[in-house]
Amino acid sequence: MDLAIIAGGKGTRFSKFSKKPKVLSKFGKKNLVDLYFKIFKENQIKKIFFFLGHNAQIIERYIEKKNVNCKVFTEKRALGTAGCLVNKNFNPKGDLLVIMGDIATNFNVKKFYDYHKKKNSDITLFVHPNDHPLDSDIVNLDEDSRVIKFYSKNRKKLFYSDNLATAGIYLIKANILKLLKKNIKQDISKDLIVTSLKRKKRVFGYKSFDYVKDMGTKKRYFQVLRDLKTKKFDFKFKKKNHKAIFLDRDGVLNREKKNYKYSNPLDLYPGVIRSLKKINKSNYLSIVITNQPAIAKGFVTKEFVIKSHKILQTFLGNKNVYLNDIFFCPHHPHKGFKGENKKYKIVCNCRKPKIGLLLKAKKQYDIDFKKSFFIGNSEADYKAAIKSNIKPYIINNKILSDKIGQKRSFSSLHQVIKYLIK
Ligand SMILES: [Mg+2]
Repeated sequence: MDLAIIAGGKGTRFSKFSKKPKVLSKFGKKNLVDLYFKIFKENQIKKIFFFLGHNAQIIERYIEKKNVNCKVFTEKRALGTAGCLVNKNFNPKGDLLVIMGDIATNFNVKKFYDYHKKKNSDITLFVHPNDHPLDSDIVNLDEDSRVIKFYSKNRKKLFYSDNLATAGIYLIKANILKLLKKNIKQDISKDLIVTSLKRKKRVFGYKSFDYVKDMGTKKRYFQVLRDLKTKKFDFKFKKKNHKAIFLDRDGVLNREKKNYKYSNPLDLYPGVIRSLKKINKSNYLSIVITNQPAIAKGFVTKEFVIKSHKILQTFLGNKNVYLNDIFFCPHHPHKGFKGENKKYKIVCNCRKPKIGLLLKAKKQYDIDFKKSFFIGNSEADYKAAIKSNIKPYIINNKILSDKIGQKRSFSSLHQVIKYLIK
């Protein structure tokens, strides 16, 4: 694998408050070039390439001083984030890790690369949920995380999707670059990804909550500097585990209709948006773990549930909040009912109080259960949390509240979050 850093942009918004080019601006005691060299050295990457344009000489002088074996390409006119990769002297082999030159990150490179290989992907996009979906490139994924639709930023309307935004980090099979034209301005998102999708190439989304933030504007730059001082960012790349607040869905986020076929996830309780905003701002992930036996019972299809979750994520995105992920169990154990879907009428290991979904989330996102919480409203939630060593909090359940004690039982999600996140 080779590494390409794309840092040719003018950084117009950035230059209004900083004299230095973005990649050389103060970033703790270092700058972004140092960060990219660190990624290069620590991940058995064969070669590192810089694609420069504006301010190229200043950046090149800095790179030379560092004495790292790398190659610099300087464009004479702006060719965009993909156009710059078309150069007769640039012939990468295998896979190319591409990072936009305004990205501050401490992501797990090996995990990203393993995923790319496992999916036999042509392009893998690092994606994460986002609280400003209208001015972000958004993807819609299928169940296998393959990209089925790509929406370019600055749309007026938000189509329903998983509200997953591209983060400025890509893994690209080198031969996919042949889809690009010579000497024309082209972008990775608008051109390379869109063309690859049209040609039915294998494009996948890699969902991760590792720290990835662009610092292209004053507000975002200072946010990154603040994050550097907190535990959100760890320059030393220690193996880091995330903390999560696991949420049951029905009866916690949305009203639960007793004896009803399927509760509408958009029927949210008051205070849910405010609570999610608080979680999103904290160091906790918000992950839904829900049983949806209505699928096995034949009341709704699995596709219907997936779609309703996409609609929920889109609704939340429009309110500038997000759920990091939603895991659901479609099963139910008792057979022999009219209209049931036999495929899902099984004894599974994911229906709470079993902990299959929690283990899946833990593995996918490197979550430390001991530092996490589970907020639910049923015995199954409580048992799943206890079995996983996650601290349970219960809402609206009198029987459980006697068991768990007053300190851990509340009347709404809003009340718990107010207690947990000061
Ligand atoms: Mg519930």
